[in-house]
Amino acid sequence: MNMISNPPAILICGGGFAGALLAIRLLDTATAPLSVIVVEPRATVGRGVAYSTVEDVHLVNGPASHFSLYPEDPLHLADWLRGQGHTGDVAEAFIPRRLFGTYVETELDRAIRESRASFTHLRAEVVALRRQPHGLEARLSSGAKVHAARAVLATGVHPLGGIAQGAVHPWDAAAMDGLADARDVLIVGASLSMVDAVASLESRGFRGHIHAISRRGHLIEPRRVVPDIPPFLPDPLPTTARGLLSAVRAEHRRILADGGDWQALPPALRGDVLPLWQGAPMAERRRFNRHLRSLWDVMAHRAAPPSFAALERARAEGRFTARAARLVRVGQGEAHLRLRRGGELHLQVDGIIDCRGHQEHDWRRIDAPLVRDLIAQGLAVPHPSGFGIRAQGLAVVGLNGTAPGDLFALGHPMRGEAWESSSIPEQVAQGSALAALLRQSLRQLAL
Ligand SMILES: Cc1cc2nc3c(=O)[nH]c(=O)nc-3n(C[C@H](O)[C@H](O)[C@H](O)COP(=O)(O)OP(=O)(O)OC[C@H]3O[C@@H](n4cnc5c(N)ncnc54)[C@H](O)[C@@H]3O)c2cc1C
Repeated sequence: MNMISNPPAILICGGGFAGALLAIRLLDTATAPLSVIVVEPRATVGRGVAYSTVEDVHLVNGPASHFSLYPEDPLHLADWLRGQGHTGDVAEAFIPRRLFGTYVETELDRAIRESRASFTHLRAEVVALRRQPHGLEARLSSGAKVHAARAVLATGVHPLGGIAQGAVHPWDAAAMDGLADARDVLIVGASLSMVDAVASLESRGFRGHIHAISRRGHLIEPRRVVPDIPPFLPDPLPTTARGLLSAVRAEHRRILADGGDWQALPPALRGDVLPLWQGAPMAERRRFNRHLRSLWDVMAHRAAPPSFAALERARAEGRFTARAARLVRVGQGEAHLRLRRGGELHLQVDGIIDCRGHQEHDWRRIDAPLVRDLIAQGLAVPHPSGFGIRAQGLAVVGLNGTAPGDLFALGHPMRGEAWESSSIPEQVAQGSALAALLRQSLRQLAL
């Protein structure tokens, strides 16, 4: 198939949450004929890795009032839930991610029905992009070629290399079924995916022991409702990881001295994340990644209390242990751990769950045909911070150092430029900005 760009076509590579969100924005705001094409190998558009889980104990990590698709209508998700027959204080509910995925799909269906623009989902993977005189040509895993005036990389998270043979992911329901009667299970990772794994096991009547390990021993905590504090970072903002850490530590001490809760810190920092990241020299971004990222991950992304309750029950029954350790090898049902405080521990385990979060951010290490092709062609350049690719605004920068303005990126590939590009609220803001940019760019094309 060769799609000619009349009307102009926007190709979105990847139909997870970010790709679906951008499609909704483009469809809702189209004032002239436009073709929106999403290439996504999954059967539906809008779920990606995070919202494809079928388990009701896998929850979105904040209350519904934080996750509207429309910033101008923050209670849109809550109203949608009420329309689906959910009752009670739905705005404060931590809903299953499966249900959030249905919300996104429903909104995409609505936008498709109401739009002047057309929408196509091609079920394939984009394996290569070529720049042409009037746009870009995508080659798909199906053998098809698609021509578009503009293309967007919404390719999301990429899996990390395996940790051990036979290790499973917490979102693999059949694998979790297989561990329901296990005596000892090792979980590698101690952040949100670990909470998913514990909730999955416990919901199956698991009675064994869960051993969770993380390199630095930071364990995620449940989200608590705490009074807001004002932004506290100095003006000008710190430009080094050390400067940031010392400002956060000082505020932490002040909060504790006043009898407060450290969980007031992340919301008070959120507005400064983008200027902090963009104001920091590259060496400091790398330093932050090396020394502070795991702390940031468990501070900023707190767990949904209803699913964390499963972990607390197991811990109260003496069936949950968290350690600062690294998995060095596995053999004959034994996991060999190197403890952070020194020494080794050999644990007999019946299964290992990989909860490192499915996230390889470094484009030099991602083994996906499109990623390799974009780098080989010089259409995209790995970001020197080790996260995603270089961009100016949301326009992808090529090997020659310029952003021609026909190729854009959204979400995870933008983390080197904008850091928190992975959570729903940040992606909602980025998606709106990118839709406006694309509209403007197509108008210029028509002149
Ligand atoms: C398990 C999990 C739980 C999460 N929970 C939360 C939460 O509660 N709250 C929150 O704010 N954030 C959460 N997140 C963060 C999450 O990353 C975002 O919310 C959002 O789902 C990211 O969407 P995305 O489209 O960028 O990436 P993804 O969901 O990864 O989607 C990318 C899509 O691109 C497709 N793709 C990749 N390469 C190609 C290609 N070459 N051609 C075609 N298609 C391609 C993939 O098939 C995939 O469907 C969670 C993440 C995970 C992994």
